[in-house]
Amino acid sequence: MTNRFPPKGRTRDDVLDELEAQKVNDVDWRGGRIGLYTHFGGDDVLEIAKDASRMYFSENALGPSAFPSLARFETDVIAWTLGLLNADDDASGSMTSGGTESIMMAVKTARDWSRDNRPVSGIPQVVAPYSAHPAFNKAAHYLGLEVKRVPVGPDYRANVDRMADAIDDRTIMLVGSAPQFAHGVIDPISDLAQLAQQNDLWLHVDACVGGFIAPFARALGRPVPPFDFSVPGVSSMSADLHKYGFTAKGASTFLLSDQAHRIYQVFEFDDWSRGHYSSPTIPGTRPGGPIAAAWAVLNYLGWDGYVRIAGELFDAIDRLKEGISEIDGLSIVGDPPLTILSYTSEDYDIFAVAEAMTRRGWFITRSADPRAIHMGMLTLIHVPVVDQYLSDLRDSVEDAKTGTVEITDKAITYGG
Ligand SMILES: *Cc1c(COP(=O)(O)O)cnc(C)c1O
Repeated sequence: MTNRFPPKGRTRDDVLDELEAQKVNDVDWRGGRIGLYTHFGGDDVLEIAKDASRMYFSENALGPSAFPSLARFETDVIAWTLGLLNADDDASGSMTSGGTESIMMAVKTARDWSRDNRPVSGIPQVVAPYSAHPAFNKAAHYLGLEVKRVPVGPDYRANVDRMADAIDDRTIMLVGSAPQFAHGVIDPISDLAQLAQQNDLWLHVDACVGGFIAPFARALGRPVPPFDFSVPGVSSMSADLHKYGFTAKGASTFLLSDQAHRIYQVFEFDDWSRGHYSSPTIPGTRPGGPIAAAWAVLNYLGWDGYVRIAGELFDAIDRLKEGISEIDGLSIVGDPPLTILSYTSEDYDIFAVAEAMTRRGWFITRSADPRAIHMGMLTLIHVPVVDQYLSDLRDSVEDAKTGTVEITDKAITYGG
């Protein structure tokens, strides 16, 4: 690395060649060797997302009056997502840059709602299951709140009784996940919603992963517990377009069950030289690309396209679950109904298996509690490699059992 600013321009080919060449050490996500960070819904889907993104590369959703096209795409995407998640006509929402920003908006909206409607003295508190995404702590850290994390039940779902016990006079908000990231299980949202209503609390359902896969799982006849706006008491939801929506990165949704609460979401400001400023989410400049790509992909795939992809994914996850369960000593953590899972072993060290799988060329991610291998999110890129994965897993378990792998003290990281 050099801190010398590029002294002279280079040719386009030269620059692009170097960009391509720099990928050499990146994980082989196209070979299905990793289960997170990329989400693949087919080359055709990728291409239309890229085309749409290029068409709106320069446009800026900061100015909806200058770019009514983007305003319309966002309105459509939000309306369709609200419909997918069974919201009624009072609902509203915004597109954001990702799940983290959606969660940030949820915590911010809940905070400002509570200030007006049920003020607490001291630092406002969010009560969340231990399994909730770190974005809730990030949001609380940025926004001056605290998060109390509550141990989950033996099924790894939120323990509603313990969450009830954790509520005190500073609590303003509860959190549930559909599903949570580590084990892929869905928290008991109906019970959490009841608890929220009894205590006049905001309930955010984090469906960053589930928002665009759970409805299609249901369409395939797979059992999915109630998790969305059909449950009375759900105040807001997050659903990531750039995960199971298979759209361009930089796209999620933040959704409110009641548009009257939008005043607590939007930031308004007048006291400067340039006049009125109004902004529904964190960024100023908002890239048009991810918004146009989301609109394009939702239209391109449509309900039937998502159901078809979900069908392929659920066939693959069933084969994986069966294959894992048939391997001596391995068990799936909890009962994950969607397309994320993790597995562990009580007979041998699962991190030895992780190590042996890593040597076989898989980018294996580990979970901390319990010690497990985390499969991340299954997408279409993984469907062709399920058999290879299982075969390598069988061999890796043999290695672990015979103690031939040295367990390195690899950090259990996500986002690191
Ligand atoms: C991915 C994820 C998030 C955060 O979303 P980003 O788009 O990575 O910011 C939040 N919650 C859950 C359950 C997630 O899986």
